[in-house]
Amino acid sequence: MSKKTIKDIDINNKTVLIRCDLNVPIKDGNIEDDNRIVKSLETIKYALKHAKHVIIMSHLGRIKNEEDKKKNSLKIVCDRLSDLLGEKVYFCTYDEDIKNVVQNNKIVMLENVRYFDLDGKKESNNDEELSKFYASLADVYINDAFGVSHRRAASTTGVSKYLESAVGFLVEEEINKLSILLNNPEKPFCIILGGAKVSDKIGIISNLIEKVDNIIIVGAMAFTFLKAKGMNVGKSLVDEENIEYSKNLLNKYSDKIILPVDVYVSDKIDSNDKVLKNINEIGNDDIAFDIGPKTIENIDNVLKQTKTVFLNGPAGAFEYDNFSYGTKEVLKSLKNSSAKVIIGGGDSASATIKFGYKNSFYHISTGGGASLEFLSGKDMPGFENIGE
Ligand code: ADP
Ligand code: MG
Repeated sequence: MSKKTIKDIDINNKTVLIRCDLNVPIKDGNIEDDNRIVKSLETIKYALKHAKHVIIMSHLGRIKNEEDKKKNSLKIVCDRLSDLLGEKVYFCTYDEDIKNVVQNNKIVMLENVRYFDLDGKKESNNDEELSKFYASLADVYINDAFGVSHRRAASTTGVSKYLESAVGFLVEEEINKLSILLNNPEKPFCIILGGAKVSDKIGIISNLIEKVDNIIIVGAMAFTFLKAKGMNVGKSLVDEENIEYSKNLLNKYSDKIILPVDVYVSDKIDSNDKVLKNINEIGNDDIAFDIGPKTIENIDNVLKQTKTVFLNGPAGAFEYDNFSYGTKEVLKSLKNSSAKVIIGGGDSASATIKFGYKNSFYHISTGGGASLEFLSGKDMPGFENIGE
């Protein structure tokens, strides 16, 4: 997939509406990680340089009631953007005369587009009237919100029907880099899948299995596969509905699939204790929350030979220090390998950043679900009205 970018259309002296994904994590009124704002700067700065007026829009969280509105105002994001740009960004609520505000300011950020979800889910259901309203504010539209482009919404699919449209630099980079995995990744090509549920990853497995040389399965996912092999996984998380699927995959691709050989078990996720067990020693009451050192050694040996790696899903319950070992060690192995490493998935990206590997890899996708859908080979509705 290649799409027309902001450089391919004329934005000189025009009013440019940019849809960003500024859905940053906020805790106790503070932005925990401004990565998504930082990643949006390139397109915003380019627009500021060439356009007459720039309008930024984004969602933040989900809006189901008035209380959500208070919690998820974009004002705090607007202030951070002003700081990062070194230029005042006018924050515009929907009570103001937006067109007038735009005429009087170089750069304006609109309030959270999902405020319109309180009125019949208009934003998230791609409402026609709302799409036309967004379009009425500008001359051209730029979609730079990769993270929401796997869904049809008024601020992505809808508005782009009514304005000359292109993608921004963030989306261009996501498409170009993720496409490497779909087209011709340098071999050997390995994917590491972890995280919670097998069902989330079936699309990716189906789309990539023929292309990969190895598929390393860690995280809670591994226990569905181990159970499918007839092993005792105790009380570890198992995706019962996908045991059959896992069995078939193991039968067909046994030479490609690598599973844990040792794990750390405990009786609860927030426990400070853990016991290292070989994979055939898991007891009926054990819950495995992390992978062990022998598994790490196996993974490290594979990664040493690998040229391209896609990682999706943490190797353990990394949010708990006691079970973060495997996730950290996999990241360390990846960093020490000479492979081109691409990381996708919301939790995987936050683990990568949390453990200090923000600048260590070829690409960390800003799109959680979006990167998974893109790599599953699905259409991206957010880009469907944007030309090639
Ligand atoms: P991503 O967002 O990167 O796609 P997922 O959402 O699939 O990843 O999975 C992340 C979650 O999986 C994390 O919350 C992590 O705690 C959990 N997880 C990983 N391994 C285990 C395990 N062995 N037992 C329980 N939860 C696990
Ligand atoms: Mg997740």
